Amino acid sequence: MRIETKCLHEGYHPQNGEPRVLPIYQSTTYTYDSTEHIGKLFDLTAQGYFYSRISNPTVGAVEDKIAALEGGIGALCTTSGQAASLISILNILQAGDHFISVSKIYGGTINLFAVTLKKLGIECTFVDPDASDEAIQKQFRPNTKAVFGETIANPALSVLDIEKFARIAHQNQVPLIVDNTFATPILCRPIEFGADVVIHSTTKYMDGHAVQLGGIIVDSGNFDWNNEKFPEFNEPDESYHGVIYTKNFGKAAYITKARVQLMRDIGAYPAAHTAFLLNLGLETLALRMERHCLNAQKVAEYLNGSDKVEYVNYPGLQNNAYYSLAQKYLPLGCSGVISFSIKGGREAAVRFMDGLQLASNVVHVADIRTCVLHPASSTHRQLTDEQLKAAGITPGLIRLSVGLENIHDILEDLEQGLAKV
Ligand SMILES: *Cc1c(COP(=O)(O)O)cnc(C)c1O
Repeated sequence: MRIETKCLHEGYHPQNGEPRVLPIYQSTTYTYDSTEHIGKLFDLTAQGYFYSRISNPTVGAVEDKIAALEGGIGALCTTSGQAASLISILNILQAGDHFISVSKIYGGTINLFAVTLKKLGIECTFVDPDASDEAIQKQFRPNTKAVFGETIANPALSVLDIEKFARIAHQNQVPLIVDNTFATPILCRPIEFGADVVIHSTTKYMDGHAVQLGGIIVDSGNFDWNNEKFPEFNEPDESYHGVIYTKNFGKAAYITKARVQLMRDIGAYPAAHTAFLLNLGLETLALRMERHCLNAQKVAEYLNGSDKVEYVNYPGLQNNAYYSLAQKYLPLGCSGVISFSIKGGREAAVRFMDGLQLASNVVHVADIRTCVLHPASSTHRQLTDEQLKAAGITPGLIRLSVGLENIHDILEDLEQGLAKV
């Protein structure tokens, strides 16, 4: 199956007389004929559902679909993108460990890595995504256990050189985790370029309609955890009578451990109804991404030609610093997200945004409806103009998430907004 077909048909295969549409299995529990069978489920020697804090048939169908889209061997849904980032790291690292992350990533992830994980004794070093191999290699320590980056960074829109980071991570016998939220598997499949684990905020394009919050962790099955750096994978887990994940689950060691150990203990598993809504979004993902990219490319070119605009940041523009990386990793398009700055700073940006009629002013991105955000007066409001500059956010910067409306309606709205500046 090609990827458009997988969006519709992977994960759920109804048998003779069964519902055509994925059913919502709204049940916390599952019934078995014998206590012996339930005992086997708890010992991980038999497979099956037993409690919806760690698995559920509706959520499971979505996990199988997204694993197939990314080219992974298994996946685990979570209640948010934040929970996916957290569990993807906690599954590998513990207090006293260290990891390396690219500095241009989602702001919420920076907080999680720099503040909250630090309180748990896990340290993160941030590196410039464009740094040389040598500069990145220098940040490795004997206790470094992972490398993390974002395919298309939110909101910087830098494009990650996935092969470079995979090569450096693997030279140091550690896995590369890639947040593929903005690209989606339609535009880029990081596993094909060497990523070992892929995560998403499914709240964004995968859902696409702004109706559910969710995340997912996908395991490539390619990383060899039989390595002295990772005793949690290749030594007995006392919380399961001495199960050894690499021995009992082979290629699925990482994703099995994330589910049966961390999801069991943390409990950030989505409800069946939420997964059902996500699945509806996934069915049209390929079609939607195609149009998001097409519309955004036209909008970026329009803004680039406007004399009211200071600069436009979109990796699909030839003058963009990430154009050649985008050609390699995102040949079908660079998603619907653009950032740009209006001449006249903060006041001009606010006048423009308040003047828009079609685009909505929301704290959301990657939606079917065109939406805008002014970081300097919302998500980054507490920062001074100097601090904004250090974070790569000019006072006039606007993040524009181009939706699926008719391109002429989008362009006309931007035009009348710019006329009010
Ligand atoms: C939104 C986002 C997250 C966090 O996801 P939530 O679903 O809001 O918890 C993580 N990474 C990226 C790239 C995001 O855009």
